[in-house]
Amino acid sequence: MLLGALLLTACGEPPRVDQRLIILGFDGMDPVLVQQWMDDGSLPNFQKLATRGEFQPLATSNPPQSPVAWSNFATGTGPGKHGIYDFLRRDPETLLPAFSISKSIPPQQFLSLFGMELPLDSGEIINRRIGTPFWSAIEEQGGRSTVLRVPVTFPPDPIHRMLAGMGVPDLIGTQGTYTIYSTRPIAGSETSSSRSVRLRPNREGHIKTFLVGPAHPLRPQAPALNTEMLLDPQGEKVRIRLGDSDVQLAAGEWSDWVSVSFKYFGPASVKGIVRLYLLQAYPQVQLYVSPIQIDPRNPVVPLSSPPDYASEMAQRFGLYHTIGMPEETWSLNEGHLTDHAFLEMERTILHERENMFYDALDQHDSNVVISIFVQTDRIAHMFYRGIDPQHPLYEETDDEARQAIHWIYTEADRVLGETLNRMGADDRLIVLSDHGFAPFRRAVNLNRWLLDEGLLVLEKGQKESPIGFARVNWAQTRAYALGLNSVFINRRGREAQGIVTEDEAGEIKQQIISSLPGLLDPDSGLPMVREVFDGAVLYPGNGNQDAPDLVIGYEPGFRASWQTTLGGVPNSLADDNKKKWSGDHCITPEAVPGVVFTSFKPVIPLDSLQDVAHYAKQYWKVSP
Ligand SMILES: [Zn+2]
Repeated sequence: MLLGALLLTACGEPPRVDQRLIILGFDGMDPVLVQQWMDDGSLPNFQKLATRGEFQPLATSNPPQSPVAWSNFATGTGPGKHGIYDFLRRDPETLLPAFSISKSIPPQQFLSLFGMELPLDSGEIINRRIGTPFWSAIEEQGGRSTVLRVPVTFPPDPIHRMLAGMGVPDLIGTQGTYTIYSTRPIAGSETSSSRSVRLRPNREGHIKTFLVGPAHPLRPQAPALNTEMLLDPQGEKVRIRLGDSDVQLAAGEWSDWVSVSFKYFGPASVKGIVRLYLLQAYPQVQLYVSPIQIDPRNPVVPLSSPPDYASEMAQRFGLYHTIGMPEETWSLNEGHLTDHAFLEMERTILHERENMFYDALDQHDSNVVISIFVQTDRIAHMFYRGIDPQHPLYEETDDEARQAIHWIYTEADRVLGETLNRMGADDRLIVLSDHGFAPFRRAVNLNRWLLDEGLLVLEKGQKESPIGFARVNWAQTRAYALGLNSVFINRRGREAQGIVTEDEAGEIKQQIISSLPGLLDPDSGLPMVREVFDGAVLYPGNGNQDAPDLVIGYEPGFRASWQTTLGGVPNSLADDNKKKWSGDHCITPEAVPGVVFTSFKPVIPLDSLQDVAHYAKQYWKVSP
């Protein structure tokens, strides 16, 4: 820190840096696809980089999930040290699933006044990742770091410049809850995070409805805040009045950003921004409203370091998606958005990220500049059905959707080209991904298998259980699956109703490790699991006691069902995946390595995500 201060010039401006380490991440970029498209000439900039420096597969984390992998990258350690094991963790007390990346601690002290609860402290939001990320270590050595949208960076680290990524909630505190307004009833699903509102037009077609916002900040028991929305027919279009916006949309059109404010006391309000997408015009109106994003001009929680960087970006480049996972994968999966609308949204998000990244590069004020683009991952998840002839939805996938993954790889190539153009002779570049991709054709109901094995027991007379283990008999259950790859033992002294002793736990683990890889898909006869890993071996340390007892390494083509991730026990062992979420990587890590490209010959081998952190920490100052 002291050295950093000394480096400031007399006028307070940081000196120009011409020898930078630039790290450009493309989440989920797959070595096989990238090689195939380099070979056919689709990715000239990647090809150029591979010839100039090095290109090889990069070992991913176990399990190969983005929050785990990017935490390996940030800290140079593994899950046993940084404490992120899966997208989801469970509360051993309630056994309910929770988001594993961040948690908010509500204000502890309130003053009751006029029927309101006035918080005396502001509460706290905590990044659950443990350890020092390498960009902070570099600042401790006197360098300056710019870090844009790396997953698991919320709340932002106090460094030279950071914009938080995966982990930033929407305005109502979830990881993204959208709303569908419709004159007809809308089907939802058990695992959906959407809201649907039924519209009732009057004889002229006029509709008055509301957008429901965050909880009342001063009266937690009161109904959530809301703001009015008016819809009227306008020729072929729909006129929508929301917040201070008055917009007209035709079917198949996205709106620009709409500012909304939720008043709660006198002039005091909570501010957010949304985008609208008109699915259908009159007479059967159907309107999609995006998750309410925190307004970067007026953020209710810190989005950046320094805190005003988020609003400066909004002033210079316009409003942008602030939520940690802005790609509305779930609305596409539920059929609430079209392929085309989804791809338009990705285009918008990509350009927002590009503006900020190029601007950060042009500042020349940081020794390390890191930016992660996640669009490569989201599009591969949602459009793998277009390149996998064995996927149940392959036949019905149209041309635009078939081209989507190729398109986003060529966009990545374009971003790489822009980056290379902005680099000086002394800059070094690392391009990497956190994991690759595999098809997702069959969904495995792992809790069903545990039930069949007698390790999980339902309440008397029950044949299945909805999510959240609603009908599980914990007094007789010895193992349960939750999250994308995790299995836990119902341990005495750890789980609230735990029954398994330490000795028994070892036997149960061995039983699962030896029998699950032999389990065949009842439909195809193919093995569904390649390997089961022992959490105690994988994760020495386990400082926060969140580590799963077992990690399931599925075969390519298979993955945990959505019900499994949230603690559901359906009737069947495996089902066809008929959802658009058709590619995945939460399987055995050896089948889904990432990639690494360098513009130079590195002095230490870069074989894993951790190696990149060690390289950056050691060699940020000297080349190479
Ligand atoms: Zn992914």
